[in-house]
Amino acid sequence: MDQTEQGLRFRQIHLDFHTSEAITGVAAKFDAEEFASVLEQARVNSITCFARCHHGWLYYDSKKFPERIHPHLANRNLLKEQIEACHRRKIRVPVYITVQWDHYTAVRHPEWLVVTADGRFSGTPPFEPGFYRNLCLNSPYRELVKEITAEVLETLPVDGLFFDIVIVRECACRHCIDGMKRQGMDPANREDRLRYAVQTLNQFKLEMAEFVRSFNRNCSIFYNAGHIGPLIRESMPAYTHLELESLPSGGWGYLHFPLTMRYARTLGLDCLSHTGRFHTSWGDFHSFKNTAALEFECFHMLALNAKCLIGDQLHPDGEISRPVYELIGSVYRQVEQKEPWCRGAKAVTDMAVFNTEEFDGKQVSPPTAGALRMLQEAGHQFDIVDSRSDFSQYKLLILPDLVAVDDQLEQKLEEYLAAGGRMIASAFSGLDAGKSEFRLKPLGVRLRQPLRRDSGGDLAAGRLAEGNDHAEYIVAKGALGKGLPETEHVMYLKGLEVAAADGAEVLIDTVASYFDRTWEHFCSHRHTPSSGRIDYPAVVRRGGAIYFAHPVFTQYHINGPRWCKILVLNAIDLLLPDPVLRHSGPSSLVAAVNEQAHAGRWVVHLLHYIPERRCREIDVVEDVISLYDVTVSIRAPQKVASVRCVPSGEPIRFQERDGRAEFVVPKIDGHQMVEVNF
Ligand SMILES: [Zn+2]
Repeated sequence: MDQTEQGLRFRQIHLDFHTSEAITGVAAKFDAEEFASVLEQARVNSITCFARCHHGWLYYDSKKFPERIHPHLANRNLLKEQIEACHRRKIRVPVYITVQWDHYTAVRHPEWLVVTADGRFSGTPPFEPGFYRNLCLNSPYRELVKEITAEVLETLPVDGLFFDIVIVRECACRHCIDGMKRQGMDPANREDRLRYAVQTLNQFKLEMAEFVRSFNRNCSIFYNAGHIGPLIRESMPAYTHLELESLPSGGWGYLHFPLTMRYARTLGLDCLSHTGRFHTSWGDFHSFKNTAALEFECFHMLALNAKCLIGDQLHPDGEISRPVYELIGSVYRQVEQKEPWCRGAKAVTDMAVFNTEEFDGKQVSPPTAGALRMLQEAGHQFDIVDSRSDFSQYKLLILPDLVAVDDQLEQKLEEYLAAGGRMIASAFSGLDAGKSEFRLKPLGVRLRQPLRRDSGGDLAAGRLAEGNDHAEYIVAKGALGKGLPETEHVMYLKGLEVAAADGAEVLIDTVASYFDRTWEHFCSHRHTPSSGRIDYPAVVRRGGAIYFAHPVFTQYHINGPRWCKILVLNAIDLLLPDPVLRHSGPSSLVAAVNEQAHAGRWVVHLLHYIPERRCREIDVVEDVISLYDVTVSIRAPQKVASVRCVPSGEPIRFQERDGRAEFVVPKIDGHQMVEVNF
């Protein structure tokens, strides 16, 4: 059953089935017809089912590895019957195969485990519950994974393969040490080990894709690492599509999905995003996500051009839970109705934010996360990009706080600016990787002196300290300070002491505190107040580029000072006065504009759900708070023919002025799509 021809399916399930050997009667209550019929009623059209789980057990009638079949599997054809019953109802069934976590193998072949630099096995210690021991893909284990995959492909009708836990693992086992030596690397050097681990993983994925293709030309192939970041680029040919594992209540939080998706959608493959029906995370049996939360998560996926996947886990007895699929069905029936406005849709964006994961290795990198929140809260339309992206399609590029510039990036960014591109950069962005000098000259700043270090040897600029030791101030003024009182506003994190170059205009200066907070001199509970003494430039403009000396994006991610956001949004207004979308709604409204070129229309998604920290561990969405009469203005690419709410079809009056179309959306009940026809 092909899925790539028409793109990925919109209503998917991932059906976990990691089942202990200590449980008997496994799949004894499985009824294939009941199973597929419940899925069909919930409007599910793809479900990932298990060949092999993290416990290491198989759920099909293996002839090659009968000892690995779950010892209490009452129905040896569980997977086969799941696939056949689903196929009769035109439901796709990608097959799940665990890779680096396999309890059965880890216990029997400790010599195949990843070894840490201090000589221990990586993962769950022997006397703790859990199957999180990491197997090394340079050990003979690699062949075992291939043999099992071959048997699955040869004996079952496979629509797709989902290889789980395919993650970069630095390893000091003898296979890896030999491999590094053969390549002239130094196994004792951490950077070499990491480089070798990345190379190992890329080779594994590419080799596996070729291997799978020798059995099946069409099945989908995905390798899961729980995240999609810039590291994926080298192995992109091994994937048919991308899946974003991102359960907001499962440790990823509500920021991970929009951040990752806005990046993943620029990589050229169709995307699917995971959430769960669980209250928290995977393995949370007998729990339910609030309906409003599941709606928000699925509709947010549609708005950002992802297809939906909801994670579930089948009870060991094999009986599918009807109440769970009533919950899923209540959302998937709505997804099905919204699909015609999401098929083939591409984001309409005029800005891009650099993904600083490329520089700090963090999956939710604070500078990018801060920028994402600011732009999302203002209704701006943007992608997240890396140094290898094509910048020419964006009018404004944001380099938040940490974007180090090498030869290649310097040239690319200078060409972008020379061609009329506009840019906002902040703090360390534009410097060389060693933070010694600005390489990106068009920013119009240079370091006044080498960056100051405090007594501990750390850079004072950008350093987070409990008492805001190096805090400084800026006086909001002019166009940049619009909406803020013309007085000092604290910058908790110190900026870079810069000087403006010729031809650059200082928009705002830094005001120094009386002194830094140290053991010798301090004032009150926190940072020392403003001394009124003007210090170095805080915000500098040169042509189409505005530079902020303070790490305003990291700061916004840390504690959300509204003035940091207002300053940045005002800078955006100066550089890009005519953005794709503006709205009159609250900052909790999420707005996304998509184009369906085949239908000659734009679809504006408006989402209003508010995750609230109601308990210690997770953000909760329980209620839908409706919004009424929200004015939306879009920069229309051509004359507008009609505007209506969809799927309901209710027409909306609109006005056109100066290349923009403006209309009032009468009600946003959680999620509302508006179709703009040209
Ligand atoms: Zn190894």
